[in-house]
Amino acid sequence: MNKNDIVEVAITDMSDQGEGIGKTQDGGLTFFVKDAIVGDFVRAVVTKVMKNYCYAKMLEVITPSPDRVPARCKVARACGGCQFQEIAYDVQLKLKRETVIRKLRHIGHIAAFDDDSSISPPEGKNPVYVAPTLGMDDPWRYRNKTQLPIGYDREKNLVAGFYAGRTHAIIAHEDCLLADAGNAEIARIVLAHMNRYKISAYDENSHTGLVRHLLIRHGHTTGQWMVCIIINGRVKDLLHADELVATLKEHPGMASISVNINTKNTNVILGEETILLYGTPYIEDTIGNLKFHIGPHSFFQVNPVQTEKLYGCALDFAGLTGNEVVWDLYCGIGTISLFLAQKAKKVYGVEIVPQAIENAKDNALLNSLLNTEFMVGSAEDVAPLLRKRPEAAPDVVVVDPPRKGCDGKLLETMLAMAPQRIVYVSCDPATLARDLAILLESGDYRLEKVQPVDMFPMAGHVETVALLEKLNK
Ligand code: SAH
Repeated sequence: MNKNDIVEVAITDMSDQGEGIGKTQDGGLTFFVKDAIVGDFVRAVVTKVMKNYCYAKMLEVITPSPDRVPARCKVARACGGCQFQEIAYDVQLKLKRETVIRKLRHIGHIAAFDDDSSISPPEGKNPVYVAPTLGMDDPWRYRNKTQLPIGYDREKNLVAGFYAGRTHAIIAHEDCLLADAGNAEIARIVLAHMNRYKISAYDENSHTGLVRHLLIRHGHTTGQWMVCIIINGRVKDLLHADELVATLKEHPGMASISVNINTKNTNVILGEETILLYGTPYIEDTIGNLKFHIGPHSFFQVNPVQTEKLYGCALDFAGLTGNEVVWDLYCGIGTISLFLAQKAKKVYGVEIVPQAIENAKDNALLNSLLNTEFMVGSAEDVAPLLRKRPEAAPDVVVVDPPRKGCDGKLLETMLAMAPQRIVYVSCDPATLARDLAILLESGDYRLEKVQPVDMFPMAGHVETVALLEKLNK
């Protein structure tokens, strides 16, 4: 097989990156085909030849999958952010559940099963039912945060959109269908201002030009808007900023307008210094009955509707009665901690980013949840310290680690602390499966429940909540 060869592939599976996986009719090599979905029979061109498989790009659907739906967004394929957009939504949910089952089986050697015949019956240890993925009623326009790079298209027009493939050219696309339509209006105001006063956009190659990105956040329940303009320069370089602010202020719900300075030659979006031009340095939003202040730098789940379901599930699994001591490890700005604190005696939150812990403390005060204590540090280092405090002995440990999962040392500490319940919130089923296997290996816990939650409709990622219950021997 060579690059640029044309092949016909029957797609039987999806990869974690959202490519269709399949073989040619002679059954030899495996192909990962961009833009193809499970059930398709496609013609594709080989883009890269590896030792045991090839990458390819779909040229034409010969026989479409029965699950194929037309893309709603005209740039879906070029953008690549929505690898599942051409798959019917109920099938997206089914695929995500199957992914969780497969990872638990193959990586965790856990006999995960569903009530669907599409997956063969369970074998082996630790049988667990994986519930149907919790999805959205309306899986569009859910994102509360948008980061638009500002630059020039091939005709040198000023545009906001996304990078085309691996190039530095930006394809104009202000109105992402996963974000609120208000984003596009705000982007157009900023672009019009830049055009009027000949304000340049940043160019990554030459590290020149001024405006790099537009960061827009939207409070789902409050309707508040935040606009942060990220520039390679000083505020005075943003000519007639007062006029821009006056126009943006007219946008309903505008609560915060700022400029962020990022003069570094980096692809990190935000710099350290933020200068407020109007309103408050944050916007407010709520999840359930809790209020949160969210600044340009704050980590906040991007899908507020599903976040409420995710945290509701974690809270349900924690089984709190009001008397429990809970650890919330990898707590971010304390969102899960505060959810739990409403039903617990005491919650200890641990997070590695100091600024996030500052936010967590502020959010605890904002909600008068004083039965919380937040600590900066890595979960693996802080947990052994917390272990030395008798009053902090946990009844429930909640973890919500990044994709790489929990540190082995932390898993050991958790087993040594022997909480009644462990609630594992995971953004990567592969590392979830790996870590659950280690915890189950101890023989001290039973895997009770697994609930996939769809935080990212149209994309391939799946979030999972798992409950481990201590075996009373
Ligand atoms: N529970 C939060 C955040 C989850 S994201 C929420 O739902 O909003 C994972 C968090 O883990 C991030 O805030 C990240 O900064 C933090 N983190 C990454 N590695 C860590 C470590 N070793 N110890 C503690 N926190 C860590």
